[in-house]
Amino acid sequence: METKNSELFNADGLTRIIGEYPTDGMFSRPGPFLLASAGIHGNEPSGILALQRVFKKLKTSKPFVKGRLIGVSGNMTALKKGVRLIDKDLNRVCTPEFADRLKSGEIADFQEGSEFHDLAAIVEAIENNKKQEKFLFMDLHTTSSRTPPYISVNKKKENFDFAKKMPLPVVKGIEKFIPGHFDHFLTLKGHTGFTMEAGQHDDPKSVDFHEAAIWVVMVDNGMLDKSVIDYAHYHNLLKESSPTRDNFEVTYRLNLKDGCEFAMEEGFENFSEIKKGQLLAKLDGEKILADSDARVFLPLYQQQGSDGFFIVMPAD
Ligand SMILES: [Zn+2]
Repeated sequence: METKNSELFNADGLTRIIGEYPTDGMFSRPGPFLLASAGIHGNEPSGILALQRVFKKLKTSKPFVKGRLIGVSGNMTALKKGVRLIDKDLNRVCTPEFADRLKSGEIADFQEGSEFHDLAAIVEAIENNKKQEKFLFMDLHTTSSRTPPYISVNKKKENFDFAKKMPLPVVKGIEKFIPGHFDHFLTLKGHTGFTMEAGQHDDPKSVDFHEAAIWVVMVDNGMLDKSVIDYAHYHNLLKESSPTRDNFEVTYRLNLKDGCEFAMEEGFENFSEIKKGQLLAKLDGEKILADSDARVFLPLYQQQGSDGFFIVMPAD
């Protein structure tokens, strides 16, 4: 039995900045700054474990990097407790308006408000860093159900072009249904990036996929020379992880109100094909049937969360 990610994750030494490379004192060349965030949901340690591996390797081999990689932890309080969230879903409260209010002195009355305050300050520091030529980001997540790795992007050309360099399926348009996620905040601030879902929360392979994605983004965006790492290995790992490399667009979200009784039918995975009329879930005793032939996206099989499931359709 492989060790679960949550068992491998040591929350005691967790810091907001997981690592930076090169650091300010080191010789550095101009280039993009890549912000890799992880653990925006506290029950998703995979991205943090992946970043710890990446920084360990960078600090050992000390390659030249153009620009800078900065790794940050998201919901630190929740990560330390091993729970998804404390008061509110951090990935629903990240708006530029809220960031401005926090900056001008408003004290949030929920834990995730202060987490977001810290993150927004880091984002602003990167924006103001004179060495930064371009602000790229990747927000690393995992899911409750099993899934092949995929990328979710906000509908903006630069984001989509950035995402399509990755050998993974891309889903666009989630921001219409869930504004206030960290990716949405960074996109609205004018930066270019995506959210990556690497697999199930506790699956060790999720960490491998997150790590691979960080290396591939660094090489593909001119930050790191291919010869420094085993690029082909990481690229292939992602390429072979998924049965599809199609693009999709989110067309529907089932909202769950507090206190409702929701049960997803067993056996769905991300991108599972569904037929019109197929039973998908039960909500407060009512059957929920598929409206059309499509695919299920992010079916909810955990206790916490307000997204029952999404529907995606093929897109260009
Ligand atoms: Zn997440």
